[in-house]
Amino acid sequence: MEGSGDVAALGRKLLSSLGLDPDVQLARSAAAMPWNAEPGDFESPDGTLVCGLCGKPKQTADGFPIVHSHQLASLVRHEETQAERAERILRNRGRCFAGEFRGLEGCTLATAAEDTDRDSAGAVMAYSRDFRAMRKAGHGLLLFGPVGRGKTFLAACLCNVLLDGGWRCLMTSTRRIRSQVEGTYGSLNSVVESLCRQDLVVLDDLFRDRNTETGREIVFDVVDALYKARVPMVVTTNLSDDSIRYPSQADQPVVDRLKERCRRIEMPASLPNRRQVAAC
Ligand SMILES: [Zn+2]
Repeated sequence: MEGSGDVAALGRKLLSSLGLDPDVQLARSAAAMPWNAEPGDFESPDGTLVCGLCGKPKQTADGFPIVHSHQLASLVRHEETQAERAERILRNRGRCFAGEFRGLEGCTLATAAEDTDRDSAGAVMAYSRDFRAMRKAGHGLLLFGPVGRGKTFLAACLCNVLLDGGWRCLMTSTRRIRSQVEGTYGSLNSVVESLCRQDLVVLDDLFRDRNTETGREIVFDVVDALYKARVPMVVTTNLSDDSIRYPSQADQPVVDRLKERCRRIEMPASLPNRRQVAAC
């Protein structure tokens, strides 16, 4: 072992400089289990500790510990590089804005139309600034109001801000979940499980497809699972203030869970309907 002699000599010098007898100290440390020993290591016939991984000695002839380079790799925690982080954010963004949500990955408040409701936008951004605490508490948002007031747009802006911060967000809808279940993706359970691994899930136009039994089942199962897992939900819906305050018997189990976890943000009906303006 080239170099280990130098290490041993250095160690002896160090011990001497501390006023200790190297021979006595080395005999003592050799008797104790060396700190660099790992499961799988063994003792050679002459009593030297041998690495179970590469078969080389882990001690000098004097009993000084030798740390192997492959040991160092597991001792030093892997730090994510800038490039790795950027790549992870890009992957998360691709997943967030798939299917019917493709095209929303560019939504930011800087690209918002002038008539975007300032109060709602402000509330959404305040939520993003508090996200760490909101996520811990499992708190989300319930964006409601008439069609075409920018609810989905604001939800997409929120996702983009959080994605930039490294969080995992996903936009989905009953329609998308149904096509995943009916397609090759798998069962409703597996779709729900993948949603529960997110930091935030947007359920767009949640109450749109609840008029069929499958639709109702999807809406309830998804909301109930996210509620139990305390994953923040951001729900957009055309339901009126009254139907949220006094939900129908069919909607109640879902609306109750949302009211408990989500801050209600009403998009005013006084705003122009962008979809109608766009159609003119
Ligand atoms: Zn080794």
